[in-house]
Amino acid sequence: MPDLLEGIGVSPGQVAGPVLAMGNPPVLPAVYPVTDVGEEVLHAERALTAVCEDLRARAAFATTATAADVLLAQAELAIDPVLRDAIAARIRRGQDAPHASHDTFAEQRAMFTAAGGFLAERAADLEDIAHRALAALLGSPMPGVPAPGHPFILVADDLSPADTATLDPTMVLAVVTERGGPTSHTAILARALGLPAIVGCRGALTAPDRGLATIDGTTGHMRIGVTETEAAHVQAHAAALRAGLSNDRGPGRTADGHAIDLMVNIGAAADLSAVDLTDVAGVGLFRTEFLFLDRTEEPGLDEQTHAYAEVFAAFPHRTVVVRTLDAGADKPLPFLGLPDEPNPALGLRGLRTSRLRPEILHTQLRAIARAAAGATADVWVMAPMVSTPAEAAGFVQQVHDHGLPTAGVMVEVPAAALRARHLLRTADFLSIGTNDLAQYTMAADRQTGDLADLLDPWQPALLHLLGACAVAAQDAGKSISVCGEAAADPLLAPILVGLGITRLSMSPRALPAVRTALARYTLAQCRRLAERVLEADDPAHARTIAATDVHAL
Ligand code: PEP
Ligand code: MG
Repeated sequence: MPDLLEGIGVSPGQVAGPVLAMGNPPVLPAVYPVTDVGEEVLHAERALTAVCEDLRARAAFATTATAADVLLAQAELAIDPVLRDAIAARIRRGQDAPHASHDTFAEQRAMFTAAGGFLAERAADLEDIAHRALAALLGSPMPGVPAPGHPFILVADDLSPADTATLDPTMVLAVVTERGGPTSHTAILARALGLPAIVGCRGALTAPDRGLATIDGTTGHMRIGVTETEAAHVQAHAAALRAGLSNDRGPGRTADGHAIDLMVNIGAAADLSAVDLTDVAGVGLFRTEFLFLDRTEEPGLDEQTHAYAEVFAAFPHRTVVVRTLDAGADKPLPFLGLPDEPNPALGLRGLRTSRLRPEILHTQLRAIARAAAGATADVWVMAPMVSTPAEAAGFVQQVHDHGLPTAGVMVEVPAAALRARHLLRTADFLSIGTNDLAQYTMAADRQTGDLADLLDPWQPALLHLLGACAVAAQDAGKSISVCGEAAADPLLAPILVGLGITRLSMSPRALPAVRTALARYTLAQCRRLAERVLEADDPAHARTIAATDVHAL
């Protein structure tokens, strides 16, 4: 009998194939005496340079601009002079290069972890670099994704950004991790690559190496120990589904023809390179902070104007929703000089950073207005992390003052959801960031994989807030969208529509499955489904309700 393992499905799709686990990090060798200190220091430096070069090479092959940025940031960390000097100092005090490197990274990691917040998140990056440095010092292969020469299901405890960013979708059939949550790097990048993925799947690493398994990235089910016949059946079913999806074209709509705008989330124009934009209603979330990452100073007016204009040019006469800089917490931007805070997620982040550096928002709005003036795209602008009607009013006024007619706010904080009606007195539209709204509603850090169950977008409390926002928007006759990861879940999409959401924005690859899912239900069926799901006790119960046969609705 196959074993059923349950996790959280974060990227839809069904596959079957052999399981392979992530390559283990190298083992620290026994201490050895150093005979030539100068040569040992050079040995360590060469290893760090090799790690940096390897990461840069991976960045060049990264499948998305976002992934490339993450890898380049890691490459820079590998050649950080502070780390290099600390390792050299240890070697001069008599340690061999592998131990000097290991101890230095361990010390830095402990400091980052103790600091908490976004620095604690970088501790995982440091651990990954430490393993790579050790492999380079020992001349062993870099730890990471196996390369067996045939397609396989990748199973890991968790994946580092470096590993996820360079996954080859022609070889990796699906990704399953024991840790990680719905908004982890693994989830976001797997969706960007169109790979089925399950996170928080306890026991996945116990799957026998090379044994057959089936994965369902929607339900979060992994079945291990399946027979060849069962695997072939799942593969055939998945192939038929894929064929159906690629024949299914046109704008988003319910079975009875109610239009739902299906839009894409991007970080830069480069994210659009492999995307067929024919049936895309526009950009529902343009995350501008990627332009600001790893900068020592803010990008200038011209550079910003050019970057925004590139995106607007790809969407003539279509809507592009630009989100102003969302820095702080999970998106640290050193040049902002934000104060050290015990709880960065509750501190100066999103729109709040403009309390400290108002000129940055001013320059960004100027750049957006300049780029919009030269384009036919319908440019909307919204602010992240708005908490009060007064913040919304202040932001809307600033956007309008820059000659940009459509200004809205993201709903990412429960206070904003509860006061949606009041926000809409000034805001022209609302867009719900379910990743952050889940974090703040459930008081569960979105970067803590162990709390993935609380961050699940199927939590009835979160869906309840979404419904309240949708009612407020309908009453005001204004647009309301979901642009967090919840919008990419084909099982959830009809429920969001039933709650009153009229626009869904997601990673481009998620769009075909969401379009097909919506077309199965009439608007009345979506509403009935939403009503029932709001009564669910928990996410598992909500999913069971959602799986009700459409004819029974
Ligand atoms: C969100 O919070 O849901 C969102 C879309 O913003 P981000 O994930 O960039 O914080
Ligand atoms: Mg957010």
